[in-house]
Amino acid sequence: MATQLNAEPRTRLWRPKRVLVTRSALDWAHGRQIAERVAALGIPISQLASDRLSLDLPDDPRRAYAEAKATLAVTVASPSKRKLQPIAPSADWRVDLAEGCPAHCNYCYLAGSLKGPPITRVYANLPEILAELPQYVGRGTVTSRSRHRSHEGTTFEASCYTDPLGIEHLTGSLSALVAHFGAWQADVQLRFTSKFDAVDPLLGLDHNGRTRMRFSLNPPLFARFEGGTSPVAARLAAMRRMAEAGYKVGLTIAPIIAAEGWEEAYGGLIADIASALDGTPDPDLTVELITHRFTGGSKTVLQSWYPGSALDMGADRRAEKRTKFGAIKHVYDAATMRALRSWFEAEIAAKLPRGRILYWT
Ligand code: SF4
Repeated sequence: MATQLNAEPRTRLWRPKRVLVTRSALDWAHGRQIAERVAALGIPISQLASDRLSLDLPDDPRRAYAEAKATLAVTVASPSKRKLQPIAPSADWRVDLAEGCPAHCNYCYLAGSLKGPPITRVYANLPEILAELPQYVGRGTVTSRSRHRSHEGTTFEASCYTDPLGIEHLTGSLSALVAHFGAWQADVQLRFTSKFDAVDPLLGLDHNGRTRMRFSLNPPLFARFEGGTSPVAARLAAMRRMAEAGYKVGLTIAPIIAAEGWEEAYGGLIADIASALDGTPDPDLTVELITHRFTGGSKTVLQSWYPGSALDMGADRRAEKRTKFGAIKHVYDAATMRALRSWFEAEIAAKLPRGRILYWT
C-alpha cells in the first residue's frame, strides 16, 4: 500500500475553541507572547483572576471530552513539574513544555498517564524550565549509560506529555527550546517526536545539530486511528525538509499494530520512508519501534473517548506485563512479538540500511 508521497502536504493547525490564561502566566513574557499569538488568530481569550482553572465542562462525557480537547490553558509549570525525570528507553531526561495534546489518537498513551479532562496546558515560565536543565548534564541514567548511545551526550526528551509541534504555532516554545540547545555549548541533545508536519518555524533555526526530530509514523491503514494529526505523506515530506535543514531525524514507528494486513501496510510505509529520505545529507537515521499496548485504566478511558473505534484492545494474542510502577500492561503475546520484531528488523535492514534501531518494545 503506497502512500501518496507527491501529495501536497496539508498542515492542520489546531485552533482551540477556548483559551484560558491564568493570572501568573501573564507575569511571564513567554506567556504574554502566547496570548498575543492566540489573539492574532482571532481566538477569544479568557483571562482568569487566579491560577485556578475552572473548566465547567458539561456532564455528558462525550461533550465534556470534545470541549476539553478544544481547550488550551496557558499556565505556569510548578517546581515539581519542572523537576526532570528519567525517561527510558528514549532519553536521559524528560523536559515538559506542555501537557496534553489536541489530536484524537484512539490509542493515545496520554490516556494512561495524564489524569483529568484532556485539555492542553502550555507553560508560560519557559525561562524557569530552561534554567533547570544544566544541573542534569552528565547525570544521564538512560542513553548516557548505553554503550550504543552514549555518543548522543545527555539527552532531553520533549514529547512525553504532549506533541510539541502540534501546538507550536500557538506557543513558539519548541522553537525556543531548539534555539536554546543550538546555542548551548555542551554535550547535550534535544529529542522530540511528532505526528505533525508543521515544521516551518524550525527550519531556519540555529539548531547546530543538537536536536533530533523523530517522526511518529503508522501506515495509512492505521493512521485512521490518528484523528487530528497530519496526513502520513505530509509527515514524510516534512521529514525530508528537516533532514535537508541539517537536523538529525529519526522514526518512531508507533504504535505497531498487528491487525490484518500489517505486513503489507508497514512494508509500504518503510518503502515510502526510504523514498522520502533518498538523497538527504545525514546518513544517520534512528529507528524506535514501539508495539501497541494499553493498561486496564487507559483502555477504559480510551473506550469512553472513542466508543466504536475499530482499534483492537481485546484479549486475543495479548500477554500481561508488569510495569516498574506495578501496573499491568497488555502487550502482544510472545509469538506475535517475535513475528513482528523479526519482520521489522529484516525489513529495515533491507530497505533502510542507514536506519539504526535504538530499541524495540
Ligand atoms: S499525537 Fe500523540 S499525544 Fe497527541 S493524541 Fe496522538 S498519540 Fe496522543
